[in-house]
Amino acid sequence: MATGTFLPVLNEVEKASIRERQPLPEAYLDLPDEEMALRIAAARAALGDRLVILGHHYQRDEVIRFADYTGDSFKLAQAVSQHPQADYIVFCGVHFMAESADVLARPHQRIILPDLAAGCSMADMAAPDQLETCWAELQQMLSPALSERLELAGKPGSRVEGRVVPVTYINSAASIKSFVGEQGGTICTSSNAAASLEWGWERKEKILFLPDQHLGRNTAWKMGVPLDQMVVWDPFEPFGGLTKDELEHAKLILWKGHCSVHVRFTAKQIEQVRREHPGIKVIVHPEVPFDVLRAADDSGSTEYILKTVRDSAPGSKWAVATEVHLVHRLAEEVAPDKTVVSLDQFGCLCSTMFRVSPNHLLWVLDSLVDGEVVNEIVVPEEEKKWAKIALDRMLSIT
Ligand code: SF4
Repeated sequence: MATGTFLPVLNEVEKASIRERQPLPEAYLDLPDEEMALRIAAARAALGDRLVILGHHYQRDEVIRFADYTGDSFKLAQAVSQHPQADYIVFCGVHFMAESADVLARPHQRIILPDLAAGCSMADMAAPDQLETCWAELQQMLSPALSERLELAGKPGSRVEGRVVPVTYINSAASIKSFVGEQGGTICTSSNAAASLEWGWERKEKILFLPDQHLGRNTAWKMGVPLDQMVVWDPFEPFGGLTKDELEHAKLILWKGHCSVHVRFTAKQIEQVRREHPGIKVIVHPEVPFDVLRAADDSGSTEYILKTVRDSAPGSKWAVATEVHLVHRLAEEVAPDKTVVSLDQFGCLCSTMFRVSPNHLLWVLDSLVDGEVVNEIVVPEEEKKWAKIALDRMLSIT
């Protein structure tokens, strides 16, 4: 079975190259694994209730074992509000997740990301100026009279009126979330994407969904929306590369973004795994391309994948299409009763999630014990207000 076999090798490569990453004090570079684990546990104990560590499912084993909460973005966003007494929330995940935590946290709480280089390529595919341009162009094409009125008022593209509501995936920057909140839209996660689309269509005729076109398309298709009512907005083309007629006909406008990890899964891999493991079921994350979702037996968020495999009958065999650390841990957890393999035989790794190393975790915790906050993530106040409104909407849509 292919899962897991290459992870120890990867860890060794990472250890050898850790000096090339976010600079760490020399004392944190060459620590033996056991010593690092003991020291992380000691720092955690010293900080007690003042500290909460959140760990995304895609984090590596040596890090996630110290998390007070593990989960997907939705579950971890909920966990932030459950610890009002904690002064420090260390987010073992990527940048946009720590930003969301800062928006949802109490004023006294400080959010820390162990490695500032842990970003998300999908979140980087939607920039605020691109979204502003898109919004103004959508109004010009779909509501020319409104667009003219707003332009005369010196507010092009700046009103909630119009025929489109924006819905952004939580995997986006705080500035994008803020824009969406201000325009009357919401944020979604892979756990509540269908409910969020329903919420949007109850309010407006069309939804602009960003930044992941695959999550938007796959979710809407499963809800019965035909593909010909979906169009892709290319932020690098004037008017998204679309005509007025195409937009008029569309119910869903998909931003041209994707997850570089989940687009590596292919329908061919599904054929192969079925050949190699007769009777195996394939379950995929909805960030995979449409043809992969169609060829699979089932799809859903990471929480859904975990629950479905755990609840399956003894003897079940599963090929799972999501990040390799989750797949590997799930395989170990359910063995020998059930078999779990990665759909990609080399395992799809999120290289930015992988940046959060135990060395970085120990460094930020030791700093907190010494009274110093390093790697703090702070969302500017002007972005917080609307981002919080949008995140609160997200938490209320289930
Ligand atoms: S798995 Fe994809 S969407 Fe998730 S953090 Fe990594 S690059 Fe971003």
